[in-house]
Amino acid sequence: MANGDFETVDVAVVGGGIVGCSAALSLAQKGARVALFERGRLGAEQSSRAWGFVRQQGRHEAEIPLAAEANGLWVELTARFGHEGTHFTRAGILVPAETSDDEERVQTGYADARAFGLDTRILNRAEIRELLPQLEGDWRSGLYTAGDAHADPGRSTATIAAAARAAGVSIHENTPVIGVEETAGRISGVVTATGRCPAGAVVLAGGIGSPLLARQLGIDLPIQVIRSSVGHTAAAAPFTKVAMWGPTVAYRPQPDGSFTIGNGYRGVGADYDITINSLRNLRYFLPAFRRNSRLLKLSLGTEFVSQMRTAFGGAAAHEPLPEPDVNAAKVVANLSAFRHLFPHLGGLPLQRSWAGRIDLTPDVVPIIDRPDPRRNVYVAAGFSGHGFALGPSVGKQLSEWILGGRPSLDMSAFRLSRFAEGSATVKKQAL
Ligand SMILES: Cc1cc2nc3c(=O)[nH]c(=O)nc-3n(C[C@H](O)[C@H](O)[C@H](O)COP(=O)(O)OP(=O)(O)OC[C@H]3O[C@@H](n4cnc5c(N)ncnc54)[C@H](O)[C@@H]3O)c2cc1C
Repeated sequence: MANGDFETVDVAVVGGGIVGCSAALSLAQKGARVALFERGRLGAEQSSRAWGFVRQQGRHEAEIPLAAEANGLWVELTARFGHEGTHFTRAGILVPAETSDDEERVQTGYADARAFGLDTRILNRAEIRELLPQLEGDWRSGLYTAGDAHADPGRSTATIAAAARAAGVSIHENTPVIGVEETAGRISGVVTATGRCPAGAVVLAGGIGSPLLARQLGIDLPIQVIRSSVGHTAAAAPFTKVAMWGPTVAYRPQPDGSFTIGNGYRGVGADYDITINSLRNLRYFLPAFRRNSRLLKLSLGTEFVSQMRTAFGGAAAHEPLPEPDVNAAKVVANLSAFRHLFPHLGGLPLQRSWAGRIDLTPDVVPIIDRPDPRRNVYVAAGFSGHGFALGPSVGKQLSEWILGGRPSLDMSAFRLSRFAEGSATVKKQAL
């Protein structure tokens, strides 16, 4: 080995979630030597905890080209590794409306979707019934994008990681990166708890772990950690492949007839824990907090202690955090709402629940950037609760950028400097 404990590579990727794994795969497919470092197990943070929606509708306009490209890449991945590799299912996502407020949301979503040429339609009551005959409720209308899909997050991330490994990426689990090295003003590699890895470029795809590493390089990533709780039901006889984001509950049907259940679009979805890091970048988050005050519920609890060490730096700050607390009340409320939608299931029991920490930016749009053109550090973080769907495309764009000098899609909307410029726009209810 040259100059350290790991082989010299062209690119060191920090983070083994869907973004890091997709970047590593895409880079290796283009001939780069790549090492990927994951502080815990591959996919163990957000990328195995997501609901699994792969949607184009309802996104910030800047994300739609990425989402469209990702959709095609999901199809390719599934063609290559089979349905078992991803559980990618293109059956559409329905956003039904019950009240006039809900309908306003549907209308706005429709206008945005049409502006970007998505195959989105507004369904009337009868069409909703035709799409989902088992669905109870008095629905006025529904936004439906047939081209939207869902996939299994943990399974897909593992498949992409396995493909990356097969393409030559050296993957190191349980290996936290504790620093990014610079020599004479140039990026020279990463430092892990067990040794150095010399590298010509570094990708920070560490989700909630990215800001801490970036800060060492003088790069301030305005990312707040929030927590979202999810339930998973027992299996029933499968009756639909359509996923739904409804007013009081969201669900993804799984092939075995079970359902992954999350919060609806009305009311408070995630928990905003007050932690030692909460005040950092508060100036960027205040406008969003003010606009969405009705949707926020701040709490001071075990997350304060869990995240304490990340505020002080040192090697321990880069270790995986303890399992986040599940908000059991939210999971139960979501399950109850789900049972009301499908009484024919006779009160499907909950099989398990979990929570995930989400890397939220002030405008709910990710940061995908090379923040300093003189340094070969690329950031892909802050996916704000919707990066699973985008992962394959973000990986492709990063590989083009790193190896070819520029990405094929316009990534300027994801630049870090938008926050300091004051040009980041926050949508109401986008949180
Ligand atoms: C409950 C929930 C529901 C969601 N639902 C959806 C959905 O339906 N659709 C959707 O598109 N998105 C959804 N998301 C968001 C989606 O999961 C994330 O945006 C996406 O997984 C981000 O991928 P990532 O690779 O950037 O981050 P992560 O999956 O968090 O991966 C980052 C990895 O970096 C590692 N790491 C961090 N610091 C270090 C370090 N110093 N050294 C080494 N490794 C490090 C972490 O251990 C982690 O594995 C949801 C998220 C949650 C929590």
